[in-house]
Parts: sequence; structure tokens; C-alpha cells
Amino acid sequence: MKKKQIEKAKEELLKMRNEVLSEVQENYAASREIGESNVPDLADMSSNAYSREMLHNLNDAQHRKLQDIDAALERIEQDEYGVCAECGEEIAPRRMEVRPFSRYCIECKTEIEKFGE
Ligand SMILES: [Zn+2]
Repeated sequence: MKKKQIEKAKEELLKMRNEVLSEVQENYAASREIGESNVPDLADMSSNAYSREMLHNLNDAQHRKLQDIDAALERIEQDEYGVCAECGEEIAPRRMEVRPFSRYCIECKTEIEKFGE
């Protein structure tokens, strides 16, 4: 992928990440009946630093999405972004645009969904 596309994807991923985290923060604040200001700022934490309690407030879908996003960000750091984790081919840029956290090209994804990972 071109550097510019990757930068755009990174921006998009960080935005998605913040959206999930602020949802979680809202739920957390609501469930505790505490003000927003007493909620730790998740956006500043690295993926390994989410507290257990915070993770407990994630539902499955949010949890999975965060993992996907963090994994994609890691692949950007390691220069592996946009490359299929299964066959090593470049994933179609259009696909990466629609789903910036895609790990597999469309062919491999279809196989995996059929036969399991
Ligand atoms: Zn593939």
C-alpha cells in the first residue's frame, strides 16, 4: 500500500478506536452513576493497559472490534499492513478502505469463513 493510504487508514483506525472507547466510557459512567470526569481516559492508554474493570464493561462486539483495530495498528507499525495474513498477497485497497482492519484478502476470508481459521 502507498504510504498515504496507510496514513489515512491509521487515522481512520484511531478514530474508530476512540469511538468504541468513548461508548465504553459512557456506559461505564452510566453504570457507576459517576460523572464523566471520574472515568479514566481510555484513549490515552495503550492497548495493553486497559484495566480489567474497563474490559468488563465492553460487550463482545466492542471487545472484538477493539482487538481488530489494535491488531491493525500494530500491523501498520510492523509494516505488514494491507498484506493478507494467510496468503501474503496485498489486500485490495478498496477492501482496506471499507474495512481498514481487514487481515485477509477477500479470497482467504471467504475460505476461512467456510472452513474456520
Ligand atoms: Zn489471502
